[in-house]
Amino acid sequence: MATRLKEVDAVLVGVGLVGTMLGRELTKAGLKVVGLERGNAQFTVPDFQGPHMHDELRYSVRKAFMQDNTKEAMTFRNNVNQVALPIRRWESFLPGTGLGGAAVHWNGQTYRFQDDEFKIRSHTEQRYGKGFIDPELTVQDWGVTAADLEPYYDRFEYLLGTSGQAGNVKGQKIAGGNPFEDPRSRPYPTPPMKEPYGAAIFRKAAASLGYHPFPQPSSNLSQPYTNPEGLTLQACMFCGYCERYGCEHYAKSSPQTILLPVLLKDKNFTLRTQSQVLRINLAQDKKTATGVTYVDAAGHEFEQPAKLVILCSFALNNVRMMLLSGIGQPYDPKTGQGVVGRNYAYQTMSAVQVFFDESVNINPFMRSGANGTLIADFVGDNFDHGPHKFIGGAYFGELMTNGRPIEFHPTPPGTPAWGARWKEAVVRHYNHTSVLNVHGSSMASRNNYLDLDPTYKDAWDQPLLRITFDFPANDLRMSAYVTDKALAVGKAMGGRQVVGAGRKGPYTVTQYQTTHNTGGTVMGLDRKTSVVNRYLQSWDVPNLFVIGASNFPQNATYNPTDTVGALAYMAAEAIVNRYLKAPGQALVQA
Ligand SMILES: Cc1cc2nc3c(=O)[nH]c(=O)nc-3n(C[C@H](O)[C@H](O)[C@H](O)COP(=O)(O)OP(=O)(O)OC[C@H]3O[C@@H](n4cnc5c(N)ncnc54)[C@H](O)[C@@H]3O)c2cc1C
Ligand code: SF4
Repeated sequence: MATRLKEVDAVLVGVGLVGTMLGRELTKAGLKVVGLERGNAQFTVPDFQGPHMHDELRYSVRKAFMQDNTKEAMTFRNNVNQVALPIRRWESFLPGTGLGGAAVHWNGQTYRFQDDEFKIRSHTEQRYGKGFIDPELTVQDWGVTAADLEPYYDRFEYLLGTSGQAGNVKGQKIAGGNPFEDPRSRPYPTPPMKEPYGAAIFRKAAASLGYHPFPQPSSNLSQPYTNPEGLTLQACMFCGYCERYGCEHYAKSSPQTILLPVLLKDKNFTLRTQSQVLRINLAQDKKTATGVTYVDAAGHEFEQPAKLVILCSFALNNVRMMLLSGIGQPYDPKTGQGVVGRNYAYQTMSAVQVFFDESVNINPFMRSGANGTLIADFVGDNFDHGPHKFIGGAYFGELMTNGRPIEFHPTPPGTPAWGARWKEAVVRHYNHTSVLNVHGSSMASRNNYLDLDPTYKDAWDQPLLRITFDFPANDLRMSAYVTDKALAVGKAMGGRQVVGAGRKGPYTVTQYQTTHNTGGTVMGLDRKTSVVNRYLQSWDVPNLFVIGASNFPQNATYNPTDTVGALAYMAAEAIVNRYLKAPGQALVQA
């Protein structure tokens, strides 16, 4: 029997990046907010300090910061004809747990999505004709544009202190930035990071082929910066222990460095860690959320009543919580009906290795989670798709994040996988290899979706989330095309040997690709094809807002978090300025 607690104005399910942002915005508006986080409290001091923060075995291999899959796994299969099995070791993607969520151990690569990607269906049909999109793809427009989101992107980047070179301020193109970017209202808050040597070689080669290289926008800061919350971040040390690790130097933007010290001092905010939310509770009419039920570390069950519920538990967990709580119609791939779990997408990644002569010293250990040089010539619809049978695109660049000893030992094809010859090859190539990342979009397909597993349960006897996913043929064609372009740049870099190939299916969960899981509670203008409206308010339960990359109708070319942050600020503003004036009302009529 759950203990019923005193009602509060709002409850947050998860205190990661979005939870922290919404906590701050709602408490500032005078609401009493409880944040429920399943993991532990953790802070820059003492939790992210050296030397233990550089324990590669603990953090990279054993994934100390990630969701505990002995308690709460997910199951996976490539298609409906297979039996899904639990993922017992995280490899392909790394969902976070603990205060700050995955935004503690993220890289900090901070990109805005392009306008054409927000309008992918209407834009593609207009430019290439109605039959151009593969019928298998269920891609759809977002219901917002880059211009709608610009003020929120701007606000989020100034919260993070993002370092970068603008390419377009108020319509005026600026040399050295991304020439394809949509207009931004002002430059990045801090200048771009220093360019590493391998990235400089890439820049020269890409420019020699007529492309437009620019520095990666980074939330590993190039210089000290005080954000609008009054919190000061420091300059990045290029320590090389960034993604999968907390930053010991206060140089990576994360909830711990950009917001939490302010939020935790606010009397309107109560944080409860080790609090696993089991479900969102509904009133009898099923149209009003009454709060949530959660379990604490001692196994005691509580009901936390709240007038407003914010579901912000990371894309995959958001979908699972909706399904566990019986909110919205689950997606059925046989009929194409239903919305919760629909349009799950990922990211289509590949890589090119450039092996240099011993005279070229790359120094891979002196890198950060987000630095280097890339091109956007093949992003979104920046090139003519007419001759190709795919939509979407990829950016690529020399964006290496680390030379950590367990994870980074590049060897050319033909090298044995172990023994003396393998060791000789690692010694020969460690300091003389660049890797180009090819980071591609992921289109929603009617066959890829999320639902509850019929067999496997978690430690609290609730069904696990089941992922059904394989790369759509569209995305494999895109990856082959753009990876060929990256191979050509690799050759122009002067590599003695250049190796790489486009992504091949089937998708596997046994090797890291990216944690950019998207979709399942998508936003949109039509409730038949979306779970939330453009303000991220549930169509079915108006006092529930669902926020995160689960809102993406398909995944764009770039990394997601700048867009997650922009959407979070847009939703927060709608809640504070509009919803609170008429609580319980829909902000958009269905
Ligand atoms: C290794 C890695 C590198 C990345 N690099 C980049 C990058 O360079 N650029 C980029 O754009 N993105 C990157 N990302 C993605 C980025 O981390 C996420 O987009 C971002 O953290 C999403 O914020 P969120 O608030 O939705 O989720 P999170 O920050 O993960 O927060 C969700 C929180 O909810 C909690 N929670 C979940 N379920 C429950 C429950 N039932 N009860 C209570 N609490 C719960 C979790 O413990 C977690 O703390 C990376 C991710 C990883 C893992
Ligand atoms: S690389 Fe820079 S931002 Fe990343 S953890 Fe190290 S010091 Fe921090």
